[in-house]
Amino acid sequence: MINSINSIETQRVPAIRGPIKLPLKIGNSTHNFELKYFEYSGERYAVACLGEVSQDEYIPLRIESACLFGHVFNSDKCDCGFQLKEALKRIAEHKKGMVIYAIDQDARGLGIESHFRIYVMRQHENLDTDELYNRLGSPVDARNYEHVADILQSYNIKKILLMSNNRHRREFLTEKGFQLEIEPIEAPLNFNNMATLMLEKEDLPYDFHFKTHSDWLKSIQEEVDGDLNATVIQIISGTEEVILHSKVLETWNLASEVTKNLTNNDLKSNDSNIIYLTDFPRIDELESYSAIGAKMIVLPFSEIPSWLYNEAEKHKIIIQDWGRKNKYVIERPQWNLLKDYQFMHVYVRGDKTRCVFVGENSNQNMNYLMEGYKNLNTILLGSSPEITHIFEGDCPWFELQQPIGKANGISYNSPDFVLEFLKYNLEEYFVLCPKLNK
Ligand SMILES: [Zn+2]
Repeated sequence: MINSINSIETQRVPAIRGPIKLPLKIGNSTHNFELKYFEYSGERYAVACLGEVSQDEYIPLRIESACLFGHVFNSDKCDCGFQLKEALKRIAEHKKGMVIYAIDQDARGLGIESHFRIYVMRQHENLDTDELYNRLGSPVDARNYEHVADILQSYNIKKILLMSNNRHRREFLTEKGFQLEIEPIEAPLNFNNMATLMLEKEDLPYDFHFKTHSDWLKSIQEEVDGDLNATVIQIISGTEEVILHSKVLETWNLASEVTKNLTNNDLKSNDSNIIYLTDFPRIDELESYSAIGAKMIVLPFSEIPSWLYNEAEKHKIIIQDWGRKNKYVIERPQWNLLKDYQFMHVYVRGDKTRCVFVGENSNQNMNYLMEGYKNLNTILLGSSPEITHIFEGDCPWFELQQPIGKANGISYNSPDFVLEFLKYNLEEYFVLCPKLNK
């Protein structure tokens, strides 16, 4: 609340300062705008107007909610900076138009402090939009446009060329009796702003033309829901063009299966591919994905284990969780990395364990280990897992099925058993056979 003008304000009769003349630099030229300040019971607006406005013609209009990050610091995480610049550029081209800047509407009406809190919650707790605003006890969009209508009426504007993708704004202004024409204004998606803009499209009344992570994931999830052995990968170049869609059955070597079929032509756009997967990748697969220019891997899960984030970071790949509205109908447990022995990675899912051999001599190492497996020490644990599947290829692996029951208080069907088993058997074996460790 600004005390000096308290005396003259009421809800509908604003305190007004101006007009003032201000040359604004837009692109390489300067344009003489007229600015006015409006204040309604502490709600503040700045209006920048170019040219004569009359009630007979469509006036290009941008209603801009304040965004400290985007407008002042040029944040690439949202589209606010782009939209304001683009709107001013279009107004300059029309030689006419208006920006109504809502000074107090940072974070869709919650203010700058809340905007910081929202970023903290997103970055540290990974909350989605609904959860965030619930936590703040606020509606997702706390803005109202009553005073925008008042301001437009004070200029005697009747027809508007609205630069916006927001359905609420359109509906509100139409209800208020303005004649509208719409000119969409959409920032190009990039890896920084993608999550923010997609959340806006998924959670708020924004009409953007692009598909969101949810859209891309939904279609591939439907192909595998209920079938744990099938996996689908979809690779998108840039943000739109599908360069690969592949469903594999009964194989766990998704990355090598699909990437060897890609030609350099498919991969024209070098380092900007997004990979959508129905399941967690293995850690050794991240290198293959990196080699085909993957910058981001999007997964339909809310919780992503740290081993996956850590390994992806080594390859400069962003792991994007997108569990949100993309739940599987039938629960879909994932292979979880239990142990990384450098040349052998151990994954567990339910009562099954898979040992993947990577690097040089991987097939030889696997055969060597399976040979030794026959002589495993089963006395300590009472029983040993049975080999149920062997895969020989680029990254060979074998699968163990835990026996039923328990020994020494540990259920066979638990990761603890697998660790005990490895400790008593495989680790001992590695020490006895040092050539495996090379
Ligand atoms: Zn912003």
